[in-house]
Amino acid sequence: MPKSAKKLITTITMHPDKNFLARTVMLAATSAEAGGFPSGALVLLDGAILGEGLSRSRISPDPTAHAEVEAIRAAAVKTGTSRLLGATLYSALEPCLMCLCSAYWAGIARIVYGAGKRQFKPAYYEGGVSLEITARALNRQILIDYLPGFEERIVRLVEEWEKGQGSYRS
Ligand SMILES: [Zn+2]
Repeated sequence: MPKSAKKLITTITMHPDKNFLARTVMLAATSAEAGGFPSGALVLLDGAILGEGLSRSRISPDPTAHAEVEAIRAAAVKTGTSRLLGATLYSALEPCLMCLCSAYWAGIARIVYGAGKRQFKPAYYEGGVSLEITARALNRQILIDYLPGFEERIVRLVEEWEKGQGSYRS
């Protein structure tokens, strides 16, 4: 096995979060290429990707079609249930409140994201509500983890997308 392949496998084994978050960044780039907002997400359970999502809310008449919701919907369709108990939601960008609540109602146990909302225009979020504080107030706890190492790439994707869109209108 080539040394680089061995190193990749070792990295994936040792840092599964990094592997899956890297995939959401790839999905975000795919979303931008399709004209959508550069966000991507996936739902993981027992080591298997159950669903993936791209942001479609800017290119389709569906304000709820954020990447996270799309990933949850895809996972629910694949499993035939609306309860994805114990699953992890990986998202390139910090989820909004709608996506946090969607994860809650799906039974998701943990959210991992790569770029915090402070990096983006306030118009992309509802306001200064803290996701962590809100999550702690829910009846069932959802762990929320920021994973460093991806933010710069994600911010660049959003900036490039904004250049092609003109000013953002909510
Ligand atoms: Zn959202």
